[in-house]
Amino acid sequence: MRITNHDLETIKTIARMAASLCQAIQAELVDPAQKDGREPVTIADYASQALIGNALAENYPDDAVLAEERSEEFMLLLDDRQRALVQRYVTDAVGGYVFEEQICAWLDYGKQKTATRTWVIDPIDGTKGFLGRRHYCVAIGLLVDERPVLGVLASPGFYSDDPNPPDDPGALIYARQGGGAYLEPLFGGPPQPIHVSSQLEPARAMLLTSYEAEHVDRSFLDRVRRALGRGPDSPERQIDSQDKHAMIAAGIGDIFVRLAPEPGYREKAWDHVAGHAIVEEAGGRITDILGRPLDFSTGRRLLNNRGVVVTNRYLHDAVLAAIRISRSSRRRDESQSPGDNTER
Ligand code: AMP
Ligand code: MG
Repeated sequence: MRITNHDLETIKTIARMAASLCQAIQAELVDPAQKDGREPVTIADYASQALIGNALAENYPDDAVLAEERSEEFMLLLDDRQRALVQRYVTDAVGGYVFEEQICAWLDYGKQKTATRTWVIDPIDGTKGFLGRRHYCVAIGLLVDERPVLGVLASPGFYSDDPNPPDDPGALIYARQGGGAYLEPLFGGPPQPIHVSSQLEPARAMLLTSYEAEHVDRSFLDRVRRALGRGPDSPERQIDSQDKHAMIAAGIGDIFVRLAPEPGYREKAWDHVAGHAIVEEAGGRITDILGRPLDFSTGRRLLNNRGVVVTNRYLHDAVLAAIRISRSSRRRDESQSPGDNTER
């Protein structure tokens, strides 16, 4: 099934609208001194997903959807006041009164369907970054026959940690298979074609990792750094969300390695599909930490993969080799550790 430029323009518009809704909620509800971040995050997650569900229902009535949030939790987890806030934000965004039942229907839109085409949605990727006014994005990807073929990331904080940010600190990063990858100012401006870097040196490459320490197996990352010959001068940035994929695609970063600390953790589809389509179209490469292609046939979780490695392609084999070394060095450390009793 052909994905057209019209599809891409439609999804860009939807992602921009959802991102601007998130920005409105952030401006009104996120108090920098606030400790409990649950309220604005959940309100924005649900409002953003409802808006996207509505737009997909209008434009793609036959397609399936895989999206992070569920109406059941919306009804269960949010109190009356929070649900009313979601209703108000979505009503303002769509320009007509929206009932709670309608919000629920949009949240679950397309989830019962099976189709060749599946839209994969993260209404706010990087919720902690959203709260901290760092990187976060609205991610909309498309799987055709379980392969990522289109991705749009609407990122209001793309230049949030840039010492000289442009006037519009947000960016829209997008790609359609065979149509090139692009970056443009979030609220309009000339698209700029993007391509991965040509960095060949693992020690000089810009390594991107999660901002949140609890999303990362730190000892694994340390061993990979060492196996790549990286030192204190090797450049590194901690970035929330699929902005990391966007930065690899745009040649701002060279390597992104992700492995959760919990051995049983399986990656979520909506954290990868949009970014995957963009990185591949920009010339980069993506596998899991064992070098296997990402398998999007297993629904919400990537059950057949472990972690993820995203590179400019040239550095990929070196990173996979470093991971193999770091995994065998861990096994060696473990078999020599005092807690081990194999020698006794
Ligand atoms: P990042 O900003 O790259 O750390 O990724 C953000 C994503 O991490 C979120 O969308 C979550 O799906 C996912 N996530 C949440 N908790 C964890 C966890 N404990 N370990 C790994 N990933 C997580
Ligand atoms: Mg996410």
